[in-house]
Amino acid sequence: MALIVHKYGGTSMGSVERIKNVAKRVAKWHKAGHRMVVVPSAMSGETNRLLGLAKEISAHPDPRELDMIAATGEQVSVGLLALALKAEGLDAVSYAGWQVAVKTDSAFTKARISEIDSERVLKDLDEGKVVVITGFQGVDPNGHITTLGRGGSDTSAVAMAAALGADECLIYTDVDGVYTTDPRVVDDARRLDKITFEEMLEMASLGSKVLQIRSVEFAGKYQVKTRVLSSLTDPLCPLEQEMRSGTLITFEEDDTMEKAVISGIAFQRDEGKITVRGVPDRPGIAYQILGPIADANIDVDMIIQNQSVEGKTDFTFTVGRGEYQRAMEILKTSVQAHVGAAEIVGDPKVSKVSVVGVGMRSHVGIASTAFRTLAEEGINIQMISTSEIKISVLIDEKYMELAVRALHKAFELDQA
Ligand code: ADP
Ligand code: ASP
Ligand code: MG
Repeated sequence: MALIVHKYGGTSMGSVERIKNVAKRVAKWHKAGHRMVVVPSAMSGETNRLLGLAKEISAHPDPRELDMIAATGEQVSVGLLALALKAEGLDAVSYAGWQVAVKTDSAFTKARISEIDSERVLKDLDEGKVVVITGFQGVDPNGHITTLGRGGSDTSAVAMAAALGADECLIYTDVDGVYTTDPRVVDDARRLDKITFEEMLEMASLGSKVLQIRSVEFAGKYQVKTRVLSSLTDPLCPLEQEMRSGTLITFEEDDTMEKAVISGIAFQRDEGKITVRGVPDRPGIAYQILGPIADANIDVDMIIQNQSVEGKTDFTFTVGRGEYQRAMEILKTSVQAHVGAAEIVGDPKVSKVSVVGVGMRSHVGIASTAFRTLAEEGINIQMISTSEIKISVLIDEKYMELAVRALHKAFELDQA
């Protein structure tokens, strides 16, 4: 008898009919003798709707209140799912994050889980109950409700699996696994049976929203066996078949791993690029520019500082598009005069496309293939960043899909 955590995303919970299907699937696992914990997201579109309401009232809503509002989406889901499970004849109980408790820091809208009390859940499981716990939310040391950032239910589920010492965490979603790239952008994208933890970490951090990056970090840190699979199959399909479907995240390369040099193409559509022009090239300048950005809790992604000419240099970095305006305001009001920059310019419509693969470590020429492919498509590269297992380029948003398709083909990712 195994302890299993299931996570169901927004589409999987998108209607009463789908919630009933989730309940049927969970009941099938429970009847097979497994102890079941289920972590659902809000119904699809609900989190956006809730955040939209807040924006109608305030252009810059208080993040604490935003979390109070956004967290309700998942509370509806757990209640409905518990009812559906009871209708299947199971004993089910639903909890909001704070009731368990899922403890987080106080970084509203992007809180991090620090600890999970497993006692209450384990007691319920011992009593034969199916435990349904909200994704995406927790409680901070002052008792305030927090949320974990968009897509955070993945992290809730994997962290819960880690805290409970679960045998497996199954992430049910609207595609049947992790693909070589987003199958909604490239028709020829291919599902991977397995992906290494390292590659999944890169793919997620570079924009593949199939898993939130922090969920992959948790999986790695606590060695949680994690699988991504479809919730849209027949909920009563044979368990054996379901257990082998989807994509397994592996922690060691083994002989059965595909020997591809490149495992996938990831992209982040919504980026903004900011350049601080003509700053004096002296110690402390990067800190003076990026310090106030970090203080405002804005994540900075790619960074480039040009060679200086006559003691002056240009400093360019990217932020998420949603934070572009705020970053610009901060730079113009409190940084430009202070550092003596000539001007601050930006482009809010850029995208990042990344080629990912552990095989890059042992193969040369990957970067040149990527650059040649983009050149042949007439796509200008604005910034480049690399690590041992990825190459990222920043390009004009309008060429993003073209770039993803071209790179996917150039690295023969469509071919098994
Ligand atoms: P959920 O609501 O279940 O959490 P998400 O929308 O957050 O689902 O994530 C699933 C989506 O991730 C898919 O519908 C797909 O469009 C997208 N996606 C992006 N990159 C990939 C990839 N490499 N493999 C599979 N899906 C991907
Ligand atoms: N409902 C949240 C969101 O839309 C969390 C999640 O779905 O994972 O981002
Ligand atoms: Mg998601």
